[in-house]
Amino acid sequence: MLQTVDVGIESLDSYCPVVSEGQIEDVRRLARELKGARILHLNATPYGGGVSELLRSVIPLLRDLGLRADWKIIFGDEQFFGITKSFHNALQGDGFTLTDEVKEVYLANNIKNAELLEAQYDYIVVHDPQPLALRHFKGRNNSKWIWRCHIDTSEPNTGLWDFLEPFADEYDAAIFTLDKFVPPTLKVPIISSIPPSIDPLSPKNMVIPASLARKVTTWAGVDINRPLLTQVSRFDPWKDPLGVIDVYRKVKEDVPDLQLALVGSMALDDPEAWAIYSKIVDYAKGDLSTHVFTNLSGVGNIEVNAFQQLSPVIIQKSIREGFGLVVSETLWKETPVVAGNTGGIPLQLEDGVSGYLCDSVDEYAARISHLFRNRDAARKMGKLGKQKVMDEFLTPRMIADELRVLCSL
Ligand code: UDP
Repeated sequence: MLQTVDVGIESLDSYCPVVSEGQIEDVRRLARELKGARILHLNATPYGGGVSELLRSVIPLLRDLGLRADWKIIFGDEQFFGITKSFHNALQGDGFTLTDEVKEVYLANNIKNAELLEAQYDYIVVHDPQPLALRHFKGRNNSKWIWRCHIDTSEPNTGLWDFLEPFADEYDAAIFTLDKFVPPTLKVPIISSIPPSIDPLSPKNMVIPASLARKVTTWAGVDINRPLLTQVSRFDPWKDPLGVIDVYRKVKEDVPDLQLALVGSMALDDPEAWAIYSKIVDYAKGDLSTHVFTNLSGVGNIEVNAFQQLSPVIIQKSIREGFGLVVSETLWKETPVVAGNTGGIPLQLEDGVSGYLCDSVDEYAARISHLFRNRDAARKMGKLGKQKVMDEFLTPRMIADELRVLCSL
């Protein structure tokens, strides 16, 4: 049997204070159409990264809506997840040589997981490339299959895509974050674009008093009386953590007291993270004002919440990005974001309004220095960012969009 991820209980009613009546009604109406449907969400990790963040909030709400939803994760060893991480990178455009051994390991793991998928579902939503071939090995099995791809697959490595596409083509529907991520050759009957969302009620995003946020960040190891620049993201080359250190060094010329916090989670399906962690530590060269925190040393949801609330500016120096949940998470706390102009980031962040979109280290440094020198302007920008998140990027809207796809099958 595949491992089920245990989640909490939540009700859609609790979202009424922050989500419009129209959105709530929309979700309820769509759920009524699917009443009693059995829905499985399947991915590779129960923690670390955006997909697990989404599912942790979606499953309780689907259940509250009268749907029989489960979240299961696939099994895989380090070799398999090493391979699927390089698939992830190659689908975002990295070079990659697909060998027979790589194919064999990928397929063998998908076959094993297909055998372990026992329970019967009406809809199976498979997230990202790791379990993509399960549909092929399981067969239709009286289910509708949906591939939910969260990464930028607009220019995938062709050798890899030629191998994976036949598995994707067998799905009944595919969902991408943005229209432009849809690979041009994909032959799935229903293709939708649905941006992800953040959960305003989760421990990561719930309103916590500033005094608690200060206690928590002090506990984590930063000096709250000194300026702090933070990036929250997996340790991943696309999030450019070394570039963040370059930016920090430049800003420090202007803001000598500056500290940097790189808050990074380790995910079960991301064996590359430890190597990047070591590179970051080497690159920081023992600078006592550069802090590298991980979920494994206790910097979890509440701590991320506190960092996003207390840092006067958050940086997200992504080079390629699927959506970048951290941008909405930060704006939700009325903190401005200075981020890469890539993927779903410009959808969330209005350049010059709720932060800045940047392309070079110099540009990042100039914008961030400006915000540190003009705290009132920074606060105003943060406030402007929150409304957009409230209107467009909270969980009920995404659930409605996804249920609409299921209803169309
Ligand atoms: N995250 C976290 N702890 C960390 C680093 C990241 O909880 O130390 C969370 C972050 O708050 C966000 C998710 O991981 O919810 C990352 O999602 P995003 O869409 O930004 O990027 P992805 O990891 O999916 O590429």
